[in-house]
Amino acid sequence: MNDSGCVLCTTPGGALVWQGARVRVIRADEPGFPAFYRVVWTDHVAEFSDLSPAERGLCMDVVAAVERVLRAQLQPTKINLAALGNMVPHLHWHVVARFDWDSHFPAPIWAAAQRERTLEQEAALAARLPEVDALLAAALQPWS
Ligand SMILES: [Zn+2]
Repeated sequence: MNDSGCVLCTTPGGALVWQGARVRVIRADEPGFPAFYRVVWTDHVAEFSDLSPAERGLCMDVVAAVERVLRAQLQPTKINLAALGNMVPHLHWHVVARFDWDSHFPAPIWAAAQRERTLEQEAALAARLPEVDALLAAALQPWS
């Protein structure tokens, strides 16, 4: 299913890290949160329970694979997983590596800031992400 009026059908929705047959992983461009990834289901599916059991398994295997790579490479304070999807009919999971120095920790990234951003640490983290993206793509090959 493809819709020419849908931003997630017509664009990756971020920097494309890996494209599988049913799902893709992109890195979002979210100021303050460099290690912010999304696992985006390709077809128009609004709710997680619309997927078959096998599809749900595939989706969560990919989410877990992304989480494992982020943990191993970045040693975040916490990984945040979230599925909101109120804006687009593409089921997607946010996978965000959180750090105790980030502007919102321990609050959700969508909540009020807890402190000023630390641009040096954000830049140091961002500099590592091209390598992390390559490792993610390699780790996700089993689901291509
Ligand atoms: Zn779409």
